[in-house]
Amino acid sequence: MAYDFDLFVIGAGSGGVRAARFAAGFGAKVAVAESRYLGGTCVNVGCVPKKLLVYGAHVADELEQAAGYGWSLEAGHFDWGTLIANKNREIERLNGIYRNLLVNSGVTLLQGHARITGAHELEVEGQRYTAEHILIATGGWPQVPDIPGKDLAITSNEAFYLKDLPRRVLVVGGGYIAVEFAGIFQGLGAATTLLYRGDLFLRGFDGSVRTHLKEELEKRGLDLQFNADIQRIDKLEDGSLKATLKDGRELVADCVFYATGRRPMLDNLGLENTGVELDERGYVRVDDQYQTTAPSILAIGDVIGRVQLTPVALAEGMAVARRLFKPEQYRPVDYQNIPTAVFSQPPIGTVGLTEEQALEAGHKVNIYESRFRAMKLTLTDIQEKTLMKLVVDAQTDKVLGCHMVGPDAGEIIQGLGVALKAGATKQQFDETIGVHPTAAEEFVTLRTITR
Ligand code: FAD
Ligand code: NDP
Repeated sequence: MAYDFDLFVIGAGSGGVRAARFAAGFGAKVAVAESRYLGGTCVNVGCVPKKLLVYGAHVADELEQAAGYGWSLEAGHFDWGTLIANKNREIERLNGIYRNLLVNSGVTLLQGHARITGAHELEVEGQRYTAEHILIATGGWPQVPDIPGKDLAITSNEAFYLKDLPRRVLVVGGGYIAVEFAGIFQGLGAATTLLYRGDLFLRGFDGSVRTHLKEELEKRGLDLQFNADIQRIDKLEDGSLKATLKDGRELVADCVFYATGRRPMLDNLGLENTGVELDERGYVRVDDQYQTTAPSILAIGDVIGRVQLTPVALAEGMAVARRLFKPEQYRPVDYQNIPTAVFSQPPIGTVGLTEEQALEAGHKVNIYESRFRAMKLTLTDIQEKTLMKLVVDAQTDKVLGCHMVGPDAGEIIQGLGVALKAGATKQQFDETIGVHPTAAEEFVTLRTITR
């Protein structure tokens, strides 16, 4: 049977665009449907605008440090409207780039919501299309617990378009987004409280990293409240919001920001017309080649709920394009040692096993840990400490994990990701000449076993 397309991609986000472009480049006839914004979450309401706001907040640090270097600056004034307008302009530019990338690679771009109507059939804006393969790359959506007053809260989606910077913010959650946005709000001048339901935020990260970041955020004046959760939110007469906590305490703020995880975006996707099954967490179930339980339908990215990071969605998109249309170039995605950064202030960079994971996996480990005041701060009054940590297998000498909290942690950890992928040993770290004077050189000069 002749289909309209070889591949029909639903969602022009990180994974979908990558799969579509490469499939078209390999000679396939490809369509992409996008209902909302080109580039998906990452470009519009994720990585990119988030990093721009983080840069904005970081300027406050630079201004604080300036005096130690002899610069006297007049009291600065921050204008949220300017930052958001400039950010929006940049996002529009990127939307245009994504459009060109798709169109120039020969992909048919359809604007509108796609709904699957059969194994090889879809509908976009009332128009029917057929395809040999359908790729679900619809991403995720913020999830707010069902509490009274939840509609008074915002999520990251809205935060990027707030008209004004709220004066007082309650951030709820203890994952990437909560920690990053707490840093943004506080860095830009809002009195910020982070409420996390457990004992310590960033569950799953290395214990030293979690404790170190907690201490540094507290030094900066962020109000961290653990074992705290909101029971209900009410609007007060003056327009501010009252959050009543489960322990009965009441906190008043101008904005309650929820970052309590994301759900797969499957709304009105028509999965009931297919044999696509969901896993026990509600994500699309796929095998190791991104094949769903329906033979003609694949899925990648956040909607499969494996590792919700843009570079992972890109790698999965590439793997699908190659497997379908250039099998001789197919390589499976390597989910081991994925480097990642949390763009908190200071940021976290991490790759490989945490100390806890290494022990749980049965490794005997040597831990090398260093805390120091970065050289840049020595002419200032700022007492922030950088943390660097290596988790090393005591028997094989292989470096199992590298963890950092401190300036440029994301930039530094990328290179160490290559070292771990290559299976580097601690001895090879030690034999690597440092770049002096940098903070990063500490990773190759850690000589003393901490425990
Ligand atoms: P998405 O990028 O979400 O794309 C899905 C697309 O599908 C969307 O454009 C959506 O409109 C469209 N769509 C959905 N349903 C339909 C339909 N039925 N028809 C047509 N179109 C549809 N990752 C990092 O690596 N680094 C970061 O710093 C980072 N920061 C983040 C910050 C925030 C605030 C958030 C929310 C996420 C962040 N992420 C970050 C995660 C990253 O954005 C995601 O992992 C990535 O975007 C997933 O890509 P995807 O292709 O699976 O989905
Ligand atoms: P995460 O899953 O990372 O964190 C969710 C947080 O919310 C956890 O602390 C969780 O607590 C808490 N939580 C969950 N449900 C509730 C509830 N009902 N009540 C109170 N607290 C709750 O999600 P995020 O929304 O922060 O981010 C989504 C994903 O996006 C990330 O996991 C990451 O993959 C990606 N991302 C990546 C970034 C980067 O690369 N820099 C930046 C931003 C996002 P608990 O731990 O107790 O379950």
